[in-house]
Amino acid sequence: MRKKIVAGNWKMNLDYQSGLSLFSEIINMAKDEVIGNQELVVCSPFIHLSSLGQLSKNVTNVNIGAQNIHQAESGAYTGEISAVQVKSVGASHVILGHSERRAYFGETDALLAAKVDIALKHGLTPIFCIGETKEERESGDFFEIIKTQLTDGLFHLSNEAFAAVVLAYEPVWAIGTGLTASPEQAQEVHQFIRQVVAEKYGQEIADNTSILYGGSCNPGNAKDLFAQADIDGGLIGGASLKSRDFIDIAK
Ligand code: PGA
Repeated sequence: MRKKIVAGNWKMNLDYQSGLSLFSEIINMAKDEVIGNQELVVCSPFIHLSSLGQLSKNVTNVNIGAQNIHQAESGAYTGEISAVQVKSVGASHVILGHSERRAYFGETDALLAAKVDIALKHGLTPIFCIGETKEERESGDFFEIIKTQLTDGLFHLSNEAFAAVVLAYEPVWAIGTGLTASPEQAQEVHQFIRQVVAEKYGQEIADNTSILYGGSCNPGNAKDLFAQADIDGGLIGGASLKSRDFIDIAK
């Protein structure tokens, strides 16, 4: 059975103390409230990670992750952070291929493929994001675009390696805009993604792959989205900055 996951993406928000306070609230609520068999992941800025690692040491249902890593092992890359460094403070996940990194930092499918490799090599679970822009949706080409993102970013992986990846479908037009994909729109793409994965890796691996939805997900729309057959949880931006909202989405 594939895992149900709700992951928060704090992006470049929260100073150090505010991040620690928010995370403490999240782990306390996750301890006291029934969130079923879901795994929570909080993807914070790098500055918080080591402290969040300490705070979540004995917490089983809240994991932490980074929002990016460099593709090299180590070395002269001023200002960058490696997979080994992120792993060493207790992170288990890393978001890769987020549309903001593709758009603002020029991250290509080939670069992302290298980042996926280094993440997996060091035992980090990539939360690999794919999704179309507004123009791409309107042009009707979005299925092809999503397939290319999957193929060029991930399909070099062996069966075993691919089985360790979590996917996130995030239509770019829905991110931070308040324009959520309807449950039917999201399900249509999630089903397509699972089918593309099945064609490459077989039905069993496809059925075991968690595919999260992201893009203006909130406590009001999460239930209908997550009720869809191929939606296994969410990648939450804005609403992950409020502990109550984040936990309510998971519930
Ligand atoms: P949003 O962001 O929930 O604020 O739309 C989602 C994301 O970018 O991962």
